[in-house]
Amino acid sequence: MVKKFIDRLRGVERDVIQAPEDGDAPFYAAQGGEIEFFQAAYDERLPVMLKGPTGCGKTRFLEHVAHKLGRPLVTVSCHEDLTSSDLVGRFLLQGEETVWQDGPLTKAVKEGAICYLDEIVEARTDTTVVIHPLTDHRRQLPLDKKGQIIDAHEDFMLVISYNPGYQTVLKDLKPSTKQRFVAYNFDYPSEAVEREIVAKESEGLDGELLDKLVAAGRQARNLKDHGLDEVTSTRALVYAGQLIHAGMAPLEACRAAMVAPITDDPELSEALMEIMRTHF
Ligand code: ADP
Repeated sequence: MVKKFIDRLRGVERDVIQAPEDGDAPFYAAQGGEIEFFQAAYDERLPVMLKGPTGCGKTRFLEHVAHKLGRPLVTVSCHEDLTSSDLVGRFLLQGEETVWQDGPLTKAVKEGAICYLDEIVEARTDTTVVIHPLTDHRRQLPLDKKGQIIDAHEDFMLVISYNPGYQTVLKDLKPSTKQRFVAYNFDYPSEAVEREIVAKESEGLDGELLDKLVAAGRQARNLKDHGLDEVTSTRALVYAGQLIHAGMAPLEACRAAMVAPITDDPELSEALMEIMRTHF
């Protein structure tokens, strides 16, 4: 049954389609009231915007709530070449015939999945036009090329992510698009929650090493206004925890997970490593 569902949905590269599975929901440590927020939005089938920096848990959150709700999750990582046809579908030549192939959004709309458009601001602007009729009372998806309008399945839900730190005057969602969503502000979690996450995700790091790692990562975050585009994310902390757990020396693990990926600048790297050295 699950396999059939995946086969039906499959077809477009880059998209991750997760059918509802048995067993426990993916681990997610709540930051605040986001689970209650999402449940209420889902009950009303309101389109949702998850705001926050990269690596702070937005995707994991959605995987968790989709599992709890028993809904399949269709994730599309948006990029600058992504067009509305990539989302909606297109006619393809198969032998002598032209056949229509649904895109991931159309599949989600038909099957009643949760469709997650990750970083939608990266996509071409025509993509925002196709989602508009899905975000209001119409809940419809126009397939212009096919001359067809589809009514969304009653369980369909649209979720987008949005990183306020990345936006520029040239690249931002239009206010008319933003106000179609209800939004939740995510941020890096509190120290206690972040500790819990790193312990769980690194599968065993604990005690003093864990305390030091989390403290170092959080202190490194303070360098945000010193020329770093990205600060140490919870994801980076998890990676460092995993490397340490795998036996790497803590300082080298910090360099590999929390310093080298975010800057090429020797002075900034040194400043970050200095912070790491005060802890290890
Ligand atoms: P985002 O979508 O915001 O870029 P992710 O959801 O991919 O971030 O989070 C990156 C990683 O950090 C996850 O794979 C997970 O290991 C960890 N993580 C971050 N926040 C949480 C959380 N609240 N609960 C559990 N894991 C988390």
